[in-house]
Amino acid sequence: MAILAEIKRLYLGDNMPWIVGFSGGKDSTTVLQMLFYALSTLPKKKLSKEVHVLCNDTLVENPAISKYVDEQLQKIKKAGKGELFKRKPELFQVVKVKPKLEDTFWVNLIGKGYPSPNRWFRWCTERMKINPTSHYILNTVNKNGKAIIVLGTRKAESANRAASMNNYSDGNNLRKHTLPNAFVYAPIEELSNNEVWAYLIQAPNPWGSNNRNLLALYGSACAGGECPFVIETGTQSCVKSRFGCWVCTVVDRDKSMENFIDNGEIWMKELLNFRNWLYDIRQQTNQYVPKRLGSNGVKFGSFLLKTRWEILNKLLNMQKSLARELITADELGYIQELLVKESEGKVKQGLKKFVFELPNGKRVATISDFNILLTFRKRLGPLHLKQAKLVGSRTISSNYSLSTRVMYYMV
Ligand code: SF4
Repeated sequence: MAILAEIKRLYLGDNMPWIVGFSGGKDSTTVLQMLFYALSTLPKKKLSKEVHVLCNDTLVENPAISKYVDEQLQKIKKAGKGELFKRKPELFQVVKVKPKLEDTFWVNLIGKGYPSPNRWFRWCTERMKINPTSHYILNTVNKNGKAIIVLGTRKAESANRAASMNNYSDGNNLRKHTLPNAFVYAPIEELSNNEVWAYLIQAPNPWGSNNRNLLALYGSACAGGECPFVIETGTQSCVKSRFGCWVCTVVDRDKSMENFIDNGEIWMKELLNFRNWLYDIRQQTNQYVPKRLGSNGVKFGSFLLKTRWEILNKLLNMQKSLARELITADELGYIQELLVKESEGKVKQGLKKFVFELPNGKRVATISDFNILLTFRKRLGPLHLKQAKLVGSRTISSNYSLSTRVMYYMV
């Protein structure tokens, strides 16, 4: 097979370590499987450069997918170190990277009050996917001078993807990555969806798994795409995938989770209801905006403190009732610290209107249950409040109690 010959040629062509992005989906499984096949035909002594299998865990992965991926990683590690790289097992690494504590979904949503992500404010992908993998790639480049990132991206995924792959191609199978001294190799870029499945079903899985289980998983989730291994902003958006985070509110409906439930994973219903609630409370239509403010250009900022406590309590209750870890102890500790700190500015009952004067002399009014100036964010949408002065505050009507998010407008 031409791709296997190419993999062998490129592997032997230099001493740059390979970092294989593995999400557990069909494309990255195909690439890793081909790599196992190609390298296993080389004399063992020629396997002298490092191969890192890199997986990214957002900490809010769909639990069914996460379980499957963890099982795969264990098998890959065993087969890679114990058979393929038997002579020098230290050259074969299986690594799972996670977002930094301050970048996790719950810390940002509850601890910092970022509204649930949507198409226009998708703060999660960079923090939870791109940064952890970039950090690992940069470390590998720093140790070795250069590195090649091997991905399962394919032109058939979308017209945009094809265009960006064509743009970057240097005619030598490698394209320059946005990170310095990192290159991207996409061995299956020309394969179609059907060719990928045909290969997976026909060629036995080299680390002892059964690719029919993967096919069944796709069947349970839906006929949609997989969550690609996201390493840069140009990579196909994980939004199109239904193998992404179970909390994802960027899509209107999580059809993957709905399908899992339809296929017997009834316990996921609680997760789905929670996700749908997170989706609803970020919608502006759920806010109570008094008519007289309607013409004032009211905008919405972070979640109110009361909303953030409510999210946390619901999450903890669900974690207890499902007996599954949904938030880590480290996240919980850090979030509680942030909430308590911010509560110093909390209005005990109801909401309060704060008026701030910005350095340019303009004034902004906020309706919130904490004093924005006492938070570390010091931001309201596009407004920077760093040097703002509090010029007035008063408690306002309880009619605003339907609000879930901070409202603000220029006065
Ligand atoms: S799947 Fe959704 S929540 Fe997860 S990183 Fe992608 S956009 Fe964000």
